[in-house]
Amino acid sequence: MHPVNVIGAGLAGAEAALTLAEHGFKVRLFECRPAVMPEVFKTGAPCELVCSNSLGSMKPESAPGILKSELEALGSHVLAAASAARVPGGQALCVEREKFSKIIEEKITGDPNIEFIREEVRSLSAFAGGEKLVIASGPLTTAALFDSLADKFSGNLYFYDAVSPIVEAGSIDMSRAFWKNRYSKGADDYLNIALNKDEYFAFYRELIAAKTVPPRDNEKEIFFESCMPIEELARRGEHTLRFGPMKPKGFDDPRTGRMPYAVLQLRTENGLNSAFNIVGFQTKMTFGEQARVLAVIPGLEKIKILRYGVIHKNRYMYSPGLVNFNLSLKSDPSIFAAGQILGSEGYSEAIAGGKLAALNIVYAAKTGENRSVLDLIDCGRTMAGSLFKYLTMSGAPMKKFVPMNSNFGLVDTKSYPKETFHELSREQISKLAGMLKKI
Ligand SMILES: Cc1cc2nc3c(=O)[nH]c(=O)nc-3n(C[C@H](O)[C@H](O)[C@H](O)COP(=O)(O)OP(=O)(O)OC[C@H]3O[C@@H](n4cnc5c(N)ncnc54)[C@H](O)[C@@H]3O)c2cc1C
Repeated sequence: MHPVNVIGAGLAGAEAALTLAEHGFKVRLFECRPAVMPEVFKTGAPCELVCSNSLGSMKPESAPGILKSELEALGSHVLAAASAARVPGGQALCVEREKFSKIIEEKITGDPNIEFIREEVRSLSAFAGGEKLVIASGPLTTAALFDSLADKFSGNLYFYDAVSPIVEAGSIDMSRAFWKNRYSKGADDYLNIALNKDEYFAFYRELIAAKTVPPRDNEKEIFFESCMPIEELARRGEHTLRFGPMKPKGFDDPRTGRMPYAVLQLRTENGLNSAFNIVGFQTKMTFGEQARVLAVIPGLEKIKILRYGVIHKNRYMYSPGLVNFNLSLKSDPSIFAAGQILGSEGYSEAIAGGKLAALNIVYAAKTGENRSVLDLIDCGRTMAGSLFKYLTMSGAPMKKFVPMNSNFGLVDTKSYPKETFHELSREQISKLAGMLKKI
C-alpha cells in the first residue's frame, strides 16, 4: 500500500497523521517550517498555536465543549496532548504552547509509521496520481502551494483577522489588577483591571485614532466576527467594547465594591503567570501604536509587549462546492482536505477535520466504501456531523462563505434541543467509536 501524504503538521495534519499511523498506515507528513516560515509562525514546532493558547470551552453543554468530547471519544491524539499541556483558564482548555507542541512532536517523531519531512510542498504534481493525500496546510498555506491548488479549488477566498498581544507579567502594575473569574465561577484564573468611565474613554479615544497596518496588494478586508480586531470593534460604537471583550458584568471593582465601567482581562500564557494574553484584544494596530495605546490603560503604563498582535491572511476553499461529506475533493476523490483550508474555523474544529479525514481514509481502505464514517450514525445529533454537513453541503453562496466553527446555529435544535444535545451526541459518538473498533 502506498503511504498517505499529509501536507502540514498543524492541528489538522498532526491529528490526521497520528490517526492514520495508529491504524497501521505509512504516512509521509510534510511541514514547510522552519525553512519556509509562513507569516505569523515563530517556530518549526508542529501544532504551533499562532494566536490564543485556548482551544475553547470545555463546558459539557456548550457547542465547543461537545465537539471536544466527541473528539475525545474518537481518541484524538492532539486533544490528548492539549489536556497534558493544560494551564488554568477557567472552563476553557488553555495550553502551554511550547509543551503542547513538544508532546506532539515526540508523538510524530517517535511513531515508526510516520516519516516527518521538513519540506515545503509547492505543487500537488509532486505526488503520483491516485496516492492518497490530505491537504492540511492551514490558513497560512504558502503562496506556491496555494497557487498550485487554484486549479483544484476553482473558487478561492481569503479574509483577514488579527492576533492578540502577549505582555510580560512584570510590566503590569499588580496593585491595579485583581484575580477573579466572571461571576466568581470556578478558580480565579483571570487577571483583571477595572476601569472607571474616564479611564475607559481615555483608552477608547486613543484606540479608535490609532494607526493600523494597511491592507496589502489591494486585498479586500473581511473580518471573521469572532476574531474581529479590537479597534474595528470599537469603531462600531463607543460602548461596543463594554458589551464585548471589556464587559464589566460579573465583577466588582475591589477598590469601590461596585461594578466597574469596563474590565480588561488577561489570561496566563504559560501557567507560570510570567506572560499574559490580553483576552479578545486581537489587533492590527502598528507595533508602536500597540505599546502606546495599551499604556493608556491604568496598570499597563509600563507595558512590555512580548509578542505583538499582527495582521494576517487566511486562506480557505469554498468547500460546499468542492468537497464531499467524506472530506475528499469532488474533482479528485483521492485528495482530502482538513482544517482551515477546508473552511473550518478554530483549533478544535481543525483537529476534528484531521481526525475525520483520516478515519474516512481508513474506512475506505478496509471496507471499500468511500463514505464518511459519520454516515454510520445519526450524525445530525453530533456537533462534528452538523459542522461538516454545513461545510460540505450548505447552500451558502461562494461570496458569503466564511470559515465556520462549532455552534448551535448549525444544529437542528427544533428536533434536538440544545439543552440535551450533549447527551444525544455522546450516545451517537460512542456508537461510532464502537463500530470503528470492529473495522
Ligand atoms: C493568525 C491566526 C490567528 C488565529 N487565531 C485563532 C485562535 O485564537 N483560536 C482559534 O481557535 N483559531 C484561530 N485561528 C484559526 C486557526 O488557524 C485554525 O483554527 C487552526 O490553526 C487551523 O489548523 P490547521 O491545521 O488547518 O492549520 P495550521 O495549524 O496553521 O497548520 C498548517 C500547517 O501547514 C504548514 N504548511 C503551510 N503551507 C505548507 C506547505 N506548502 N508545505 C508544507 N507545510 C505547509 C504550516 O506551517 C502549518 O504548520 C487563527 C488563524 C490565524 C491565521
